Parts: sequence; structure tokens; C-alpha cells
Amino acid sequence: MRVSFAHPEPAQAKVRIWPVFLPFAGCGGRCVYCAQHLQTGMTPASLETVRRDLDAALGAALAAGRSPCEIGFYGGTFTALPGDHAERFTALAQAYRERGLVTRIRCSTRPDAVTARRLAVLRGLGLDMVELGVQTFEAGVLARSGRGYAPEAAQAACLRVREAGLSLGVQLLPGLPGHTPEMFARDVARAAALGPEAARIYPCLVAAGTRLAAIWRAGEYTPWDVEATIAAVAQGLLELWRAGVRVIRVGLAPQPEFAAAVLAGPAHPALGSRARARALFELVRAQAQRLGDGPKGMCVPRRYSGELWGHGRELAAAYADLGLTRNSVRPADVADFEIWTAGEGDAPGMRGREPAIPVTFPKPVFDG
Ligand code: SF4
Repeated sequence: MRVSFAHPEPAQAKVRIWPVFLPFAGCGGRCVYCAQHLQTGMTPASLETVRRDLDAALGAALAAGRSPCEIGFYGGTFTALPGDHAERFTALAQAYRERGLVTRIRCSTRPDAVTARRLAVLRGLGLDMVELGVQTFEAGVLARSGRGYAPEAAQAACLRVREAGLSLGVQLLPGLPGHTPEMFARDVARAAALGPEAARIYPCLVAAGTRLAAIWRAGEYTPWDVEATIAAVAQGLLELWRAGVRVIRVGLAPQPEFAAAVLAGPAHPALGSRARARALFELVRAQAQRLGDGPKGMCVPRRYSGELWGHGRELAAAYADLGLTRNSVRPADVADFEIWTAGEGDAPGMRGREPAIPVTFPKPVFDG
């Protein structure tokens, strides 16, 4: 018996994003876990200075013939920037779109900082996408984390972004105080139902200098461990992919200053790829169960062969338990996975092929 199946991940266009970090700009307060200044590696600068420097850098990139890219305004609450800074940043990016350097303009902001009127203005100036830091739809967790809005407000904000004709991105933060893997599964389902184009998953870490660090030191908060986080995120990835949502980031981008400040929580440099590999394993396991008799071989699309066995082959034993080993799994130039039971022979894509050297799935230059 044979079973073939596709990986559910939506096709990822390779996107280069020019990130413009505005740490804490527009934020009414500082959320308990937030250490944007460390995450972005930025020292505070006036918005006027940031915009002037951005203009100069974009001008230089244009003159140097750099290939087009998206611009993303991150690290603060973009739609609540004081005065007309959000409009002026958007207009600046739009001016470079008209000159061929910028392909798309996106920003990140809080759910309680998006009004229909402001979204319409920014869209009119060229904004294409809003990534909302929803974090969770759980009321108690939002309250304990001091986010200051209810789940209904987060949901309404997501709908408002889409109604404004903008693409929606949703950021989720599993592992906040009071948050459980079951709650995260609900968060993922609610987020997926809101039709985002993309999602980011940032498991909660305890950084020095945050209020969460004090709560953790007082013994009032226990972060998720790496294993629980990978298991929960893997399930979340599968659900989001099946809903057609691209997951553009798992875990914070590596910043030495931030890494040095992490006191506790599921910090791991390969967290995202480990979660992806676990998701793939869960996919294979579910399909293998359909065979009844254990699988005797598997053909893997070459683009997934690099992540199949997991970080440092950590999933090799789990695959062996399924009946799949290095000798019975081969990469091939095929679109779908195929597994089979004894007596079926090799898959068509594998016949006459030597085992190939696994390749690593290409990463975008910067994905936010
Ligand atoms: S709103 Fe976002 S950027 Fe601002 S303090 Fe909270 S988490 Fe940090």
C-alpha cells in the first residue's frame, strides 16, 4: 500500500524586507515581557532622525542599483506614532516605491491602536500590510500580561485591518503568564479563522530589565520549556499552514545583546527549524498511521529533506520507531511525499536514483 501527501505549507515567495526599527515608538507603556531595545539592537533616536537616515539610506540604495525590497516598520506601535510620523514614514516609503526600489510597505502595531480612519489614511498613502501584535486571545493572559485590551478588541482589530483593504499579519506569543499549550492551540485556531496572510510566533522569553523578569524572580511565573514550546508550535504551524497562512518567523531574530539578556524561557537558536521539523514529523506520523502496517520506505521532496531528521538528527529515533531509517528514506525531485509498506518497492521518483545529499531549505535574507 502507498500513501502520497503534500506538505501543507503555503508557497513562500522569497521576500527581502528592509526593516526600520522604531523601538517603543508610539507605545503607551511597556508590556511586561518587552525588551524591544535589546531585540532590535537599536539605541533610541528621534523619529525625525530615523526618517532622515532612512531617506538617505534608501537614496543610496537606489543610486547603487539595489534590487527592490519591502519596507517594514517594526519595534513599536506604528499607528500610534505621535503627530503625523506614521503618515510621513509611509509617504517616504511610497516615494521610493514610485522610484522602483520599494515593492510593499508593512508595519507592526497593537490591536488597540488601529482605527478605521487611521488605517484608511495610511492605506491611501501606500501602506499594504499591518501586522498586529495580538499575542493571545485569552482574556486572563492578556490581563496578567498588562496588554490592556480584551480578546474581542484584538479580534475586531484584525477584522478592521482586512476591512480597510490591508493585508493582515498576526503575531502570537505563546507562553505568557497563565498561558497553556491548549490556550495556544485555541489562539492559533482563532487567528487562522481571521484570514491573515502571515503569522509570526514569538515564544515568550524572560529578558533582564523587564517586569516579567521581576515576576519570574518572585516565583510567580514559570516559562514554558523548549520541548513543550516546540511541541505546541509544531501543532500551530500545521494548523496555520492548513489554513493557508504563511508563518514568516518562529522565535526572535538572533541579536547578541538580547540573547545575553535572556534569563529564562525556551531560548534556542534553532527553535524555528526544530518546530518545523517536528511539524513535518507529525505530518508523516499521521500519514504512516493510514498504512496500518508500518511504513517500509519514504520518498521526500528534495526541498524538505534537509529538515526531515530535525536539528542534529534529533528525530531519527522517532522516525525509526515508525519504521523509517536513513536507508529507507530518500530525497527525490518530486512534489509530494510518498510512503509505502513492504513489497511496494521504490517510489517512481526514486527509481534508479542514488541517495542524494540533503539540501537546506533556503532562508530569506531577512524575514522580519
Ligand atoms: S506595544 Fe509592543 S513594542 Fe510596545 S511595549 Fe508592548 S510589546 Fe513592546
